[in-house]
Amino acid sequence: MEKIRRSTVRQLLAEGAQAVGSKVDVKGWVRTRRGNKNVQFVALNDGSTIKNLQIVLDLSKFDDEALKPVTTGSSIHVQGTLVASQGKGQSVEVQADELEVYGTADPATYPLQKKGHTLEFLREKAHLRPRTNTFGAVLRIRHALAYAIHKFFNDKGFYYFHTPLITASDCEGAGAQFQVTTLPLDSLPLNEEGRPDYTQDFFGKMASLTVSGQLEGELGATALGCIYTFGPTFRAENSNTPRHLSEFWMIEPEMAFYEIEDNMDLAEEFIKYCINYALEHCKDDIDFLAEHFDKDLVERLRFVVDNDFVRLPYTEGVRILEESGRKFEFPVYWGVDLASEHERYLVEEHFKRPVILTDYPKEIKAFYMKLNDDGKTVRAMDVLFPKIGEIIGGSQREESYDKLQGRIDELGLTGMEWYLDTRRYGTVPHSGFGLGFERLVLFVTGMQNIRDVIPFPRYPNNCEY
Ligand code: ATP
Ligand code: MN
Repeated sequence: MEKIRRSTVRQLLAEGAQAVGSKVDVKGWVRTRRGNKNVQFVALNDGSTIKNLQIVLDLSKFDDEALKPVTTGSSIHVQGTLVASQGKGQSVEVQADELEVYGTADPATYPLQKKGHTLEFLREKAHLRPRTNTFGAVLRIRHALAYAIHKFFNDKGFYYFHTPLITASDCEGAGAQFQVTTLPLDSLPLNEEGRPDYTQDFFGKMASLTVSGQLEGELGATALGCIYTFGPTFRAENSNTPRHLSEFWMIEPEMAFYEIEDNMDLAEEFIKYCINYALEHCKDDIDFLAEHFDKDLVERLRFVVDNDFVRLPYTEGVRILEESGRKFEFPVYWGVDLASEHERYLVEEHFKRPVILTDYPKEIKAFYMKLNDDGKTVRAMDVLFPKIGEIIGGSQREESYDKLQGRIDELGLTGMEWYLDTRRYGTVPHSGFGLGFERLVLFVTGMQNIRDVIPFPRYPNNCEY
């Protein structure tokens, strides 16, 4: 074939009428082929957009033999002329002159033959599902949100701070950890007490995958001012829910000199910015998902962007739940760790908008949260969303060395000297929060299950690909 610069489908559809008449070179995967004995139409997709480019193959130029391998899933290279399209559904199409087949996809075995596979079926084929319209849309939105997050923080003067994935501190407190070891599990070296001898392990002590980068993030914030992390975290809880993964990505900003109100302002601005970014930059993909899965998607996204979040103390939230007369599966009383059904009642039925719940009982929150003057509650703030429940968990941190040390002693935590140094030397009021990236992607895509918004989900009994 002649040397012509390759265009993506996205570029050609964007240029549209202006490029009509030019010679083009496109490569991609065949979504469908249909037609009659004079002309065949291929819907070509190269992943650059949800939209397909129509390739017109005139059977006077291409014989049956040449077209045989052009089946759903095969990969091809086409050169031809961009022309205005006669058919409906597209403005331009390619009148093909040259065709090269890179790889066939045997129709007898290729799993993504027909449209409309269930999401459950596609989860079994997670290695191929990115090729479907649905997952293409989700994954492009996921990318746009990741970019928006970096842009938001960079524009605000926050620094991207990398916290370790392997950690030896067992006090992150946010969830059960996966252990990291090179000890031989079938012939464990034991110490005098008959326990595994971790001094012989890779790091000379017990180590795990991180459940949160926050504690190290505080070291960054008390040096650089405002930082954020954006990396994978790992939780070994047996949470088989549509909102939990064993491996998920978390964004954790941490800000020196921020009090809880500043923290809430930032969280609200941040999440609205991300949703707005997706609305502006992912229109085709969001419209596709809305049409196929969730008619109210765009309206719901706009509603969140356009309205103030409710800010409410936990104590009042519990009162509303108690007075609701609703029979919840889990009982509600002051001191209880709210379940998703409670959070969603407040958001979806009572206030009908996102809620930031603050000032939780200290017993159900982490040791590092700042104690309120009542001695009972801490300056926590959880952002609760429709359909999701908790999307952000955050707090103002306890900056008093004495109070923090007291709490650490109360809970019997050890190995925290490095963390206490932030309070021992030049301590400042500071705050931060964690946003579960997949919960944000779940909300923006309108998908129902968190396993469908990450390319290769990890959950109990599933570690494929
Ligand atoms: P939940 O109560 O929903 O299990 P959590 O209170 O344990 O969450 P945090 O420790 O506060 O979660 O983590 C901060 C954020 O990380 C949460 O607000 C949520 O968005 C997200 N998150 C937590 N656990 C998971 C998980 N297993 N899978 C995906 N996202 C998660
Ligand atoms: Mn939380």
